[in-house]
Amino acid sequence: MERIAVIVPCFNEEDTINVYYNEVIKYLREPYDWRIIFVNDGSKDKTLELMRELAKKDSRVQYISFSRNFGKEAAMYAGLEASLKTNCDAAIIMDVDLQDPPSLFDEMIKAHDEGYNLVYTKHKNRHGANPFKAFCSLSFYKVYAFITKDKEMAKGARDFCLLDKKVVEAFLQIKDFERFTKGIYHYVGFNKKCIEFEYAERVAGTTKWSFKKLFHYALLGIREFSRFYEYIPKVLGLLTFLLLGYDVISGIILYNMYNTPFPWDHIRFDVFMLAIFITLFYICRLVYDVRIQAQHRPIYIEEESNIKYDK
Ligand code: UDP
Ligand code: MG
Repeated sequence: MERIAVIVPCFNEEDTINVYYNEVIKYLREPYDWRIIFVNDGSKDKTLELMRELAKKDSRVQYISFSRNFGKEAAMYAGLEASLKTNCDAAIIMDVDLQDPPSLFDEMIKAHDEGYNLVYTKHKNRHGANPFKAFCSLSFYKVYAFITKDKEMAKGARDFCLLDKKVVEAFLQIKDFERFTKGIYHYVGFNKKCIEFEYAERVAGTTKWSFKKLFHYALLGIREFSRFYEYIPKVLGLLTFLLLGYDVISGIILYNMYNTPFPWDHIRFDVFMLAIFITLFYICRLVYDVRIQAQHRPIYIEEESNIKYDK
């Protein structure tokens, strides 16, 4: 590994960007050839100007600026694409607010040299973090694991991670339009190692993630990696089936014991609803089949091969 890109998504970060730069350069150690790739995600403040200034005074600094705010996921994608274009052997993604400590670079690189292709990070504990946010996050991982049947997605992992070129290439092959990076990391496979660190506050500025935004992001993760909508007609169909059973059995009993008229109306309604839910279930399934084809996810991801492409 020779050249490493540090990818830094930024959205309205004029207060943090210089503080970040002054800190991160202390850890861009030899013998590696470092690049800092800032991605300006449609900031409305002086973020882009500050990026230009840094790029002028330090040739390691490069930037991409979006025409508007496309979200952190898009910024990470663009940064990773740039790391390939600039021939980097690995990429480290991190936030600009120094909540992701650059002091971990050495440990991440060491883990990479031990043979881990993806070195990710998480907090040792949640001291100092908002307890409500921490509770919601934990609940999300439980629900996510239940619905997507993915029990191994790194719980509580941050986006701060080191990916080697193979993982970057695999990651970029996943063209999901709405991206849920943590799910994609799990999906692409490879050897992973987790490094834990203490929670740190933002150095300046404010968080760009409202509760509403986080909630939508959590739902997106579930939608992208499960067939969630199929469950709705399935559960409703099952309930209607049970209701039909109840109406038939209670109808027969009441007819035999008290000569009550058989509830044909209820039964007709139950059968009608059951037919609707079964139809909806198959429509959902068809839509998911179309989605999986349209996503064009790779059929497999190669980690190593010794095939010789003989003529
Ligand atoms: N960010 C971004 N686009 C957005 C929102 C956030 O590029 O739409 C960047 C932001 O500038 C920061 C990182 O993503 O570098 C993490 O954001 P933030 O610190 O606000 O999130 P938190 O740490 O509170 O989860
Ligand atoms: Mg932050």
